[in-house]
Amino acid sequence: MKVWNRYHTPSTIDEALQLLADYNGAARVVAGGTDLLIELREGARPPQEALVDITFIPELISVHQSNDHVLIGAAVTHDQITKSPLLNNHARCLVESCGVVGGPQVRNVGTIGGNVAHALPAGDGTISLVALDSEAEIILSGERQWVPIADMFVGPGKSLIDPTRDLLLGFRFKVQAGKSASAFERIMRPQGVALPIMGCAVSITLDDSSTIFEQVRICVAPTGPVPSRLSEIEDVLLGQEASEERIEAAISSAYDTVRPRTSKYRATADYRREVIPVLLRRTLHTAISRARQGHRD
Ligand SMILES: Cc1cc2nc3c(=O)[nH]c(=O)nc-3n(C[C@H](O)[C@H](O)[C@H](O)COP(=O)(O)OP(=O)(O)OC[C@H]3O[C@@H](n4cnc5c(N)ncnc54)[C@H](O)[C@@H]3O)c2cc1C
Repeated sequence: MKVWNRYHTPSTIDEALQLLADYNGAARVVAGGTDLLIELREGARPPQEALVDITFIPELISVHQSNDHVLIGAAVTHDQITKSPLLNNHARCLVESCGVVGGPQVRNVGTIGGNVAHALPAGDGTISLVALDSEAEIILSGERQWVPIADMFVGPGKSLIDPTRDLLLGFRFKVQAGKSASAFERIMRPQGVALPIMGCAVSITLDDSSTIFEQVRICVAPTGPVPSRLSEIEDVLLGQEASEERIEAAISSAYDTVRPRTSKYRATADYRREVIPVLLRRTLHTAISRARQGHRD
């Protein structure tokens, strides 16, 4: 069965928007196609009159630094992210999370923008973008704007933008000064296609003496309908000594407060609850050690 009639490869943002406008809801944005083409072929989405491939737009496939921000285009692939020296230096959690997405074939074409636009609570790249306190640049109802990454998620599989009319352009996050580092870990069920059970990204800054948490951001997912930060757990650490006792206090707080649900194909709620402390302990220790060594890698 034919799941689209026409395939467009615009080379500018304006051209892509014009195509979407011309088709008036009958065309949809495609990037790597690793989610969308499966949905179309399985009938989870109706056939499209046209697909608008945004991976030929130079602005959307670049990773660079501008002043104190790192910018990542929406059509940057997971593979590009893992190989970017800039991201290896400033966003190690993102590199680690994109490095476990699918297999090499999926990482070669699957994009970070597709991961966010698909809006699944367990999207690996998404989890790290949340921990990095990123912002997303979008064109929503014709208006170009930056929004906090958390605002991109409206519900499971539902993002703020409508890919038949709007565009996700990319992401930015602030380069952290001083003793900053991040880390990501995931527990998954290898079942032909790896099914993530739980992922955890942390991003921290220690004070000059490497002893106090000056900034902590934690995203553990899926723990709810949309990926979000665990601010209660962050508060247990913020301004406190980066000691074993304090980390364990944060972990036990997570055990008490976070209530994941049972997923038929992935894991029971009880199992997921048990792995959260494991992931938090590992990622916090790794990030602290990286920050203390003064290199983010
Ligand atoms: C075998 C396999 C294994 C996988 N394993 C993982 C995994 O381990 N972890 C994980 O997180 N994901 C996994 N995925 C899911 C998928 O690969 C990722 O979510 C990927 O990042 C999607 O990106 P894409 O470019 O392929 O998106 P596409 O399929 O092209 O698009 C996804 C959705 O986003 C919309 N969209 C894409 N880009 C834009 C944009 N710039 N603006 C507006 N809308 C847009 C599309 O219209 C579509 O609705 C796997 C998929 C497969 C097939």
